Amino acid sequence: AKEQGRNRFNYFAPFMQEATHTRMTLVSELREALQRDQLRVLYQPIIDLSNGAIVKAEALVRWQHPSRGLLAPAEFIGLAESSGMIKGIGDWVFQQAAREVLKLQAISSPSFQISVNKSAWQFRDDGSNYQLWLDFLRQLKLSPRSIIIEVTENLLLESDRMLALQHAHMQIAIDDFGAGNCPVSVLKQFGVDYLKIAPGFVAAKGDGLQISEAIIAMAHKLGIQVVAEGIETQQQLAAMTAAGCDFGQGYLLSKPISGEELEKQLQKQYAP
Ligand code: C2E
Ligand code: CA
Ligand code: CA
Repeated sequence: AKEQGRNRFNYFAPFMQEATHTRMTLVSELREALQRDQLRVLYQPIIDLSNGAIVKAEALVRWQHPSRGLLAPAEFIGLAESSGMIKGIGDWVFQQAAREVLKLQAISSPSFQISVNKSAWQFRDDGSNYQLWLDFLRQLKLSPRSIIIEVTENLLLESDRMLALQHAHMQIAIDDFGAGNCPVSVLKQFGVDYLKIAPGFVAAKGDGLQISEAIIAMAHKLGIQVVAEGIETQQQLAAMTAAGCDFGQGYLLSKPISGEELEKQLQKQYAP
């Protein structure tokens, strides 16, 4: 048995070493990615379901890695969080989004908004202090309402953080609503502006569709608007529109695109 155990150890060790090595390399590369201008922000259009117009967009970060190609957040956000780099990346994404919304509002309307994700890790340390972000918006002469901060349901359990977010006067969206166990009573209390229905409910038929309808009815009673996420088919689009959902986002409507591409789309939309 002892012999077998040693063999097993020898068999697995090189793989474990390689995984650790890759991880450490990625962490040090990520540290330099910002300075080397390797991060990108893509924007996924969010559509007004009543008329099909693009009225908002969600900022989604990418890493243009020199040898690994374009990396999705799933491949590096976890590393950024555990290594403390998510704060710097989050601040940078916010600034990019603010600069972009300024251009998009000039093309379309002052009501155009960009939403920015803020993960639980970004609230560590002084993550409830929005002064730098608000100062940045003021320099650009942008209203705080130009930005929507997307947080997860769990944040609703943290009153201090929700209050700080509310007092920053940016708008608030609860991401992946319905996936966790959110205390519905506090939605109103903290002035939540949007619920984003998790793709699982958007894709569902029958009972799942009833859940979406119930979420939409509840949200509207509370004066909250609803975004259906992950719309991939015409059927889903029709179902969400019929259910009275306010906004839609998903591959059927548009994949995440560059800021330049989004500017072109809006120019077309606003052309006479
Ligand atoms: P999320 O906030 O739920 O963002 C939506 C994700 O769904 C995006 O993946 C988007 O590309 C994808 N998506 C959009 N439409 C569809 C669809 O029709 N079908 C399917 N299957 N997927 C769709 P992405 O860009 O890979 O981002 C993944 C997650 O990474 C995000 O999920 C968000 O939690 C996180 N993330 C992205 N950018 C940032 C960031 O700047 N900061 C932080 N903290 N997290 C970020
Ligand atoms: Ca999101
Ligand atoms: Ca989401």
